[in-house]
Amino acid sequence: MEVRINEPMIKHTSFRAGGAAEWFAIPEQAEELKAVLAACKKADTPWYVIGNGSNLLVSDKGFPGVIISTAKFDRLEVNGTEITVGAGVMLSKLANTAYKAGLTGLEFAAGIPGTVGGACVMNAGAYGSEMKNVLKNVTVLTAEGNVETLPAEELKLGYRTSVIPKKGYLVLEAVVSLTEGNMEEIKAVMDDLAFRRKDKQPLEFPSAGSTFKRPEGYFAGKLIEDCGLKGFSVGGAQVSEKHAGFVINKGGATANDIYCLCKEVEKKVQAEFGVSLEMEVKLLGDFEEE
Ligand SMILES: Cc1cc2nc3c(=O)[nH]c(=O)nc-3n(C[C@H](O)[C@H](O)[C@H](O)COP(=O)(O)OP(=O)(O)OC[C@H]3O[C@@H](n4cnc5c(N)ncnc54)[C@H](O)[C@@H]3O)c2cc1C
Repeated sequence: MEVRINEPMIKHTSFRAGGAAEWFAIPEQAEELKAVLAACKKADTPWYVIGNGSNLLVSDKGFPGVIISTAKFDRLEVNGTEITVGAGVMLSKLANTAYKAGLTGLEFAAGIPGTVGGACVMNAGAYGSEMKNVLKNVTVLTAEGNVETLPAEELKLGYRTSVIPKKGYLVLEAVVSLTEGNMEEIKAVMDDLAFRRKDKQPLEFPSAGSTFKRPEGYFAGKLIEDCGLKGFSVGGAQVSEKHAGFVINKGGATANDIYCLCKEVEKKVQAEFGVSLEMEVKLLGDFEEE
C-alpha cells in the first residue's frame, strides 16, 4: 500500500491550506485499511480518514498521525436502477455514470466536489435534494473491525449530519437507488444546476463551500452579508464578495487565518442578530484564536 511521509495537506483539501500529515496512507481495500488501523492502535498513533478534503480544514501544525485517503476505493457498478459505488468515488463521476445509464436522482450531486464517503457522512445535499433520498445501504468498517452493510435509515441522516463519526464507522462503499429517467432531461437539470453554481458561488477561489450550517429560520450567508462582512479578511482568508456564505482562500491563507475569520464572523453574527452559527466545515488539529 502506498504510504507517504510528511504529506502536505494543502494538496488534499479544497481550502488549499494547512500543514502536513505525518503519514498519509492510501489503502486499496478493507483488509489494508484494517491493517493501517491495527498499526495505529499498536503504536498509539492517531488517525483520520478523508475523502476529497472539500469540507475539511487541517491545522497549520499538521496532523501528528496517519491520514487515510479513500481514493482507491473506486468501485463503480450499475445494476439496473442501482449503483454500487466505492467511498472514494467523486460524486461528479457517480452522477455522470447515473446520467449515462439514464438514471435520475443524482443530478443535485453533480457539482458537489466530494467523495461518496464524505457525502454519506455529511448527508451532502443541494437544490432540494440530498444523499438521504438516494442512499439504499452503506457498507462500513465498524469500530470493532467488522465489515457490515447497514440500511441507510440506520445512519440517521439529517441536515449535514449522520451518526457515522459518532459510531466510528468508516464508509467502504454504498448502494444508491435511482429511477429510470430521460437522458436529455437529466442533462438539462445538471447543466442548469452547474450554471446556477457558477453564477452564485466563488468557484474561482479555494474554499470548502458553505462554511456554516444554515441556522434554523435563517440563511448563514444573508446574516453574514447583513453584518456588512462581505469582503472581510483575516490574512489571506476572506468572506467572499460574491457569496457571503463562502469563506475563500484569496491567496496564501493559513488554516489559522481561515479559522480566525470564521470565529470573528460567528461573534459578529451573534452580537448583531443573536444567532449562533455552527461551522459545517470539519476541523482537524489545533487552532488558536488570535
Ligand atoms: C465549491 C464547493 C461547493 C460545495 N457545495 C456543496 C453543496 O452544494 N452541498 C453540500 O452538502 N456540500 C457542499 N460542499 C462541501 C463538501 O463538498 C461536501 O460536504 C462533501 O460531501 C465532502 O466530501 P469529501 O469527500 O470532500 O469529505 P472530506 O472533506 O474529505 O471529509 C468530510 C468528513 O467526512 C469524513 N469522511 C470522509 N470520507 C469518509 C469515509 N469514507 N468514512 C468515514 N468518514 C469519512 C471525514 O473524516 C470528515 O469528517 C462544497 C464544497 C466546495 C469546496
